Amino acid sequence: MRRGLEQGTLPDVWNLETPEIIKEVFEEYYLAGSDLVQTATFQANGVALRKHGIEKIKEINETSAKILKSVCPENACLIGDIGPSGDFLPPVGKASLDDLQNGFQVQAKALEKYVAAYHLETFSDLQEMKAAITAVKNESNKPIIASMTYKKAPKGFFTVMGNSVQDCNEEFQTLGVSVVGANCTLGSHDFIELAEVLRSVTPDIPISVKPNAGQPELEGGVLVYKQKPEDFANDLKQVLEYGVQIIGGCCGTNSSHIKLLRKEIDNYIQRR
Ligand SMILES: [Zn+2]
Repeated sequence: MRRGLEQGTLPDVWNLETPEIIKEVFEEYYLAGSDLVQTATFQANGVALRKHGIEKIKEINETSAKILKSVCPENACLIGDIGPSGDFLPPVGKASLDDLQNGFQVQAKALEKYVAAYHLETFSDLQEMKAAITAVKNESNKPIIASMTYKKAPKGFFTVMGNSVQDCNEEFQTLGVSVVGANCTLGSHDFIELAEVLRSVTPDIPISVKPNAGQPELEGGVLVYKQKPEDFANDLKQVLEYGVQIIGGCCGTNSSHIKLLRKEIDNYIQRR
């Protein structure tokens, strides 16, 4: 948004329209100390793109991966980013599992040549996540990070579709996912507790967390995240104590948050 993306525009299209800006952003994250940077393809699956009337699924995914590869340092990795379709299965919506799976598979096929692993993130329906995991597995033997997005309820953490952390992570283990995780919806403070739950539910599998920069505030019809990078990094310092293996930032975070987080990670590693 800061760089001129208009409300309602699909960011994924920027890979084709303004590749120089995408490249600049990728570089910024590696310079901030990221070991893993994701392709700008969160909505570049077949279902989501076609809903916007866009057919260039292969081109968008390949281009983003190529740009990322061109700036990826030797000691870092590029991750294929896959988000939900935006459609829902019955009874909430009319999508079919086959359509969703095919939509994800087209995307994975386009990314496969370039990425080291896949991050399937911000899913709120376990059924859809399963379709995405199956789709990626049909195209690839590379590691999969599976992150659901949870809300905090009095009885614990659940997706809006009612899936608990335990249900999701049990399913992920059955499906042979390499890393289980959570991202988005909640801010860094709630992720302290969520990381503890993730760790206790799945003690033997690597964990990934990507909180938002606090909770957004509505300003002039637009959601704005105002959390300071210092506060974000300070919360994540506590998250690190639960032994998470992958940690990053979701909505509202930028390279300043990552820079400070990197410092906390380095301190944590030194202390151990
Ligand atoms: Zn997010």
